Amino acid sequence: MSAAAGPLAEIAALASWQRPLRAQFPIVAAHPGLSYLDSAATAQKPQAVLDAVLEYLTTSNANAGRGSYPWANATTALVRRARDRVGEFLGDPEPDRSSVYFTSGTSEGLRSVARDWLPGLLADGDEIVVPFGDHEANLSPWLEARGLLARQGVRVLVRELPYQASSGDYDPDALAALVGPRTRFVAATHVHHVYGADMNVDRIRAAVGPRVPICLDAAQSVGHLPVSVADLDVDFVVFSGHKAMALPGTGAVWARQRRGPVFRPGGWSGTPNTAGIVSLTAALDWLESAGTGRVERWTSALASRLTDALGRMPAYEVLGCRSSLAAASEVQRRTSIVTFRRRGIDARDLGFILFGHGFMVRSDGHCQAGRDEKEGSVRVSLHVHNTLEEVEALVAALASLQ
Ligand code: PLP
Repeated sequence: MSAAAGPLAEIAALASWQRPLRAQFPIVAAHPGLSYLDSAATAQKPQAVLDAVLEYLTTSNANAGRGSYPWANATTALVRRARDRVGEFLGDPEPDRSSVYFTSGTSEGLRSVARDWLPGLLADGDEIVVPFGDHEANLSPWLEARGLLARQGVRVLVRELPYQASSGDYDPDALAALVGPRTRFVAATHVHHVYGADMNVDRIRAAVGPRVPICLDAAQSVGHLPVSVADLDVDFVVFSGHKAMALPGTGAVWARQRRGPVFRPGGWSGTPNTAGIVSLTAALDWLESAGTGRVERWTSALASRLTDALGRMPAYEVLGCRSSLAAASEVQRRTSIVTFRRRGIDARDLGFILFGHGFMVRSDGHCQAGRDEKEGSVRVSLHVHNTLEEVEALVAALASLQ
């Protein structure tokens, strides 16, 4: 969002762009009394994605890479096309030097990097740096890899990727001080799934130098804002297709084959999720024609509007970086996620109450690593189909509980 505009001006400027896009979500159109505010968990699907899946399943459904008849060939070509589409969508400037693997989502993608690639990089006494306060999916695979290597007599030191206490952003200076000659790998998150903050991962490359591979959990950025591997000097981008408007059980690992061993997921991979893969191409096409830059501006403006309103209600505490809460924050950009607590009301109860008003939100510990799941909060996560009217109605419902 431009610093001068402010959320309302931004929303007004984008309204005529957003309206026809909202109309393309059949589940939204079919439920006028409900507001889906849980897109960070999984995104709703536009008609174009549903059409692409139906067309595939009714014209050429077959297994990929296994037959030589026309449907099998068509399916194989669609999978190849989807692979190219992921690279294009991520702005890959050197597609010949990267590869794309399909997974069921970010969790499986990160686990595959940890299981199939990381051990080949590490020797006894090496160190890796991973986030202890992000999503559990971006911590447990690295700890499991350490355990596996330890059983083979290879001791790997796992260090915590440092955070700044004031903002929740990563701390590049503390990271630079922690990096040594045995640092072999860093795992990080692009956008925090609880605080909605852009984690400024470009500063990580600057802090660790040119040789250390970086794996990026992009579950909350791909599909929500422009993500370009031409700009981000990272080695893996792992994301969930289902959070980017593709079918459930869909995701991908993009791997830049430059630092460390070549990434080749091990074992027999079996039949791919062909309908999911077809839906991913359609979803990325849809998002690209909608414009991920405008999607980000729209959802950030709605998130700012909600955050500003919560800031005026003393009973509510918004989690995350205080300075990013201001509409024109220069410190840390906030995207489509706003997470908060209401003093005196348990988060799960609040989620239940909000559903009574027609709002579907997430209310628990959000799978955050190191957090007790009982220590809950309410997360509102927005997408392009959400409107100012929905946000204002949510604010009114929250105010009525004051
Ligand atoms: N990483 C982050 C930041 C997430 O928000 C999520 C899901 O919410 C995941 C990883 C796991 O994604 P999936 O459930 O698609 O594997």
